[in-house]
Amino acid sequence: MIVEQVWTGNVYRNFNYLIACPETGDALAIDPLDFRKCLDVARDRDWNITQVLNTHEHGDHTGGNKGIVSATRAKVIAHSNAKGRIPGMTVGVGAGDIIKVGKTVELQCLDTPGHTMSHICLLSMTDQPALFSGDTLFNAGAGNCHNGGHPEELFETFERQLENLGDDTLIYPGHDYLLNNLAFTLDREPGNTVAGQMQSDYENQDPENALVTTLATERDINTFFRLQNPGVVARLAEQFPEMGDSPDARAVFLKLRELRNNW
Ligand SMILES: [Zn+2]
Ligand SMILES: [Zn+2]
Repeated sequence: MIVEQVWTGNVYRNFNYLIACPETGDALAIDPLDFRKCLDVARDRDWNITQVLNTHEHGDHTGGNKGIVSATRAKVIAHSNAKGRIPGMTVGVGAGDIIKVGKTVELQCLDTPGHTMSHICLLSMTDQPALFSGDTLFNAGAGNCHNGGHPEELFETFERQLENLGDDTLIYPGHDYLLNNLAFTLDREPGNTVAGQMQSDYENQDPENALVTTLATERDINTFFRLQNPGVVARLAEQFPEMGDSPDARAVFLKLRELRNNW
């Protein structure tokens, strides 16, 4: 499996992805908003984009479908429930479905509601797994729930699915929000030395060549994976005494999501 992260350079800071089979050159484009740039990358690498996968229905993820399809006639794959909300969608998928790219690449669909209720993450079936996490999981952060989502569902997705993935899983999110999110982590947990170090190391990073984290790193720097961390809990309990001294993971997650909305 070859992964190309495509930085769009837009104000929303979207990342698009091309995943290619090294044997056949067939490629899958994930959320190819900047379709011209994706087509250019494919042409330079001699790849043939045969499929598009939209992680969810928002325009900054689906806006490039038309451009890709008219140039390549690729199929457009998305969550079954997104049918009618994504123009030109041709294939609906759900939990456990496998998307094949060429001869060698297999990607498993995870049904990951929360950011929206028809959101798919893709998990590669490779020796070192990779998660294409759309707007569900960001580096050091979690998706918002403002446009068709629900924080309770997002918590369930984290708790029941993302928490179970291996430490070595590579994380490929739909946006570059690393620095903003690290600042939020440090606001919640000022003593987090890993997040502090990363903030200074990557303050001037070039998103064309962005850091790719693993889930192990996310467990250190992502507040939404640190729901029972004593520092995170103590700070919340101090600010919101009504939560008590030992709030459960769900209560902490929901409070963090709410704080992040207004942060
Ligand atoms: Zn979105
Ligand atoms: Zn987005």
